[in-house]
Amino acid sequence: MRIGVFVCHCGSNIEGTVDTAEVSRIASDYPEVAFATDTMYACSEPGQDGIIEAIGEHKLDGVVVASCTPRMHEATFRNTLERAGLNPYMFEMANIREHVSWIGKDREANTNKAADLVRMAVEKLRRNRPLTPKEFDINRRVLVIGGGVAGIQAALDCADAGLEVIMVERESTIGGKMAKLDKTFPTVDCSSCILGPRMVEVAQHPNITLHAYSEVDGVSGYVGNFSVKIKKKARYVDWNKCTGCGECVEKCPSRKAPNTFDELIGPGRAINIPFPQAIPKKATINADYCIRLTKGKCGACEKVCPAGAIDFDQQDEIISEEVGAVVAATGYDLFDWTVYEEYGGGRYPDVITSLQYERLLSASGPTGGHVKRPSDGKEPKNVVFIQCVGSRDKSVDRPYCSGFCCMYTAKQAILTKDHIPDSTSYVFYMDIRAPGKLYDEFTRRAMEEYGAQYIRGRVGMVYPDGKGNLTVRGADTLLGKQVEIQADLVVLAVGVESAKNSPQLAEKLRISYDKYGFFMEGHPKLKPCETNTAGVYLAGACQGPKDIPASVAQGSAAASKVIGLFSKKKLKSDPQTALVDIKRCIGCGKCVLTCPFGAIKETDFRGQPKAEVIETVCQGCGICSSTCPQGAIQLRHFTDNQILAEVEAICRF
Ligand SMILES: Cc1cc2nc3c(=O)[nH]c(=O)nc-3n(C[C@H](O)[C@H](O)[C@H](O)COP(=O)(O)OP(=O)(O)OC[C@H]3O[C@@H](n4cnc5c(N)ncnc54)[C@H](O)[C@@H]3O)c2cc1C
Ligand code: SF4
Ligand code: SF4
Repeated sequence: MRIGVFVCHCGSNIEGTVDTAEVSRIASDYPEVAFATDTMYACSEPGQDGIIEAIGEHKLDGVVVASCTPRMHEATFRNTLERAGLNPYMFEMANIREHVSWIGKDREANTNKAADLVRMAVEKLRRNRPLTPKEFDINRRVLVIGGGVAGIQAALDCADAGLEVIMVERESTIGGKMAKLDKTFPTVDCSSCILGPRMVEVAQHPNITLHAYSEVDGVSGYVGNFSVKIKKKARYVDWNKCTGCGECVEKCPSRKAPNTFDELIGPGRAINIPFPQAIPKKATINADYCIRLTKGKCGACEKVCPAGAIDFDQQDEIISEEVGAVVAATGYDLFDWTVYEEYGGGRYPDVITSLQYERLLSASGPTGGHVKRPSDGKEPKNVVFIQCVGSRDKSVDRPYCSGFCCMYTAKQAILTKDHIPDSTSYVFYMDIRAPGKLYDEFTRRAMEEYGAQYIRGRVGMVYPDGKGNLTVRGADTLLGKQVEIQADLVVLAVGVESAKNSPQLAEKLRISYDKYGFFMEGHPKLKPCETNTAGVYLAGACQGPKDIPASVAQGSAAASKVIGLFSKKKLKSDPQTALVDIKRCIGCGKCVLTCPFGAIKETDFRGQPKAEVIETVCQGCGICSSTCPQGAIQLRHFTDNQILAEVEAICRF
């Protein structure tokens, strides 16, 4: 074999603490190395041209590049080899930036360590075999999970591009949190006026099939060919017949059911249509509160329904859909603020959450858009907003910033003044974070034009003052003194956490999630809407707190990724897959059990059970090969032989 070694300076990133010329000199003595050099930026166009030239000139049949992380540039250099006529898998990378230059300052030690890592790569490359990807067909349908503004945007962009879209929404209507909002910052335009038409477009688009009140039950397959099981939850109403007239809701005597759309502040019914603009506008029975379903009595809705749509015998149903790509857009939930005992812990009716306040402000809300406090329906004159409730607070394990609370608090202070001109808003804040376009100006308007009193400091205590109001006691850290404000209403700017059951969904989709349950992007800078599973993309606040413009932008970005993926005639599978040596396999089935991707099945070979790898499903994680007691499964490109050669190379002193 004739190997070429290229040691990259990465500007001063590597060269600053590694003598790259010395590394290439040492490498030129390694077995089968025919050419070694150092280069300024191996990944740049001249850098790659230099590699191609050297391959031709020195008749190289394998290349090692010692540079930065393969996550970033392995694909770049594989393409370079292909352009030079070599098999792209006759390539190895030594990461001498993250593993050497960035973690130590001792130039001599770094140089020796870099040379050792290059030796490992050379030893592995000597045992590489050319690999060829297989081509397979793409199912050009996309699944969008979550019908908030991000999912809606992704679905409409895909559908407008001619793709067939399956949307799964767990609530009985799409719209997500934005449908609950009154107006939106920084333009203070009506939320339902901008979202409503988009929701209608989803319902009417010939390319979109909406499964509301449904959840993803299981996902198998691989990019281009996913099989999805969807659970359509029992609604006890036949949605094909239901016209959304609302007669049933009027007559339902069960009034203790939680009204989740109104964030529990509006009256609830066991049968419910969330709001007049709901999509789909269909009734759903909450089985836990329906008198007929719990006690066998009532049935008022069945009697009044002019469409004969009530169906108490309805059961959950599982349906299957085949898609080629998935967009996860499951959004966020609000932090459970009741853990904050000092703010009333859910005991005082006039301490409410920011989203409850949106419902009070909204014309479609329980008070018809009149701001009335829950305890006695009185119009509040002093409204105190407390920011960072469940955000930037290690004591409740929410150290991160929830991103948009500063902004929606300013909006709510503005709207409060619009609704009640003789009111005063007080905002307790830690910092004001308003980095978006026109955001800083917006918070200033709240203070300067609308007279919101901003107080920098934390609130220590909220308690009833004995006269029907609340006392808010806190610190003003700018004035360095304690303040007490008599409040008619307290609004908590509660923080954001991942949507309920996000980790379970992530596991079904085989994507990563962080310790708070938010889905992880493929790369924090360069792959913000991809995941580590090919064909699964992210949009909106499921990845972390994001306001509406950012959620919409990412919805479009995810759609463009899907459209790009589907624009290829065929997809290529990664050939670094597991391979079973049928003679060694004893059919114990351990690999079948351990493969996290379900990529190994048991097969019958002349009456004997054997393992068989489904290559298109295999993700090349290698768990099977380390599990197999017989050493019967090897991972192509990472065989035991290659890994041991690397270990020997590093342990030779
Ligand atoms: C009080 C308040 C005021 C706000 N005001 C503004 C504002 O004025 N301007 C602004 O830019 N932003 C505002 N925001 C932020 C805004 O709500 C978010 O930016 C936006 O809702 C994010 O959209 P999304 O689609 O990512 O998530 P969501 O709106 O949360 O939508 C996610 C959807 O996915 C569904 N879902 C969840 N899990 C599943 C599952 N497993 N299967 C199927 N479906 C699932 C949910 O039911 C939901 O419909 C405000 C937020 C709050 C709390
Ligand atoms: S009465 Fe019947 S048709 Fe009307 S909303 Fe209720 S279930 Fe639907
Ligand atoms: S390498 Fe093995 S365990 Fe990993 S995905 Fe492939 S078959 Fe499954």
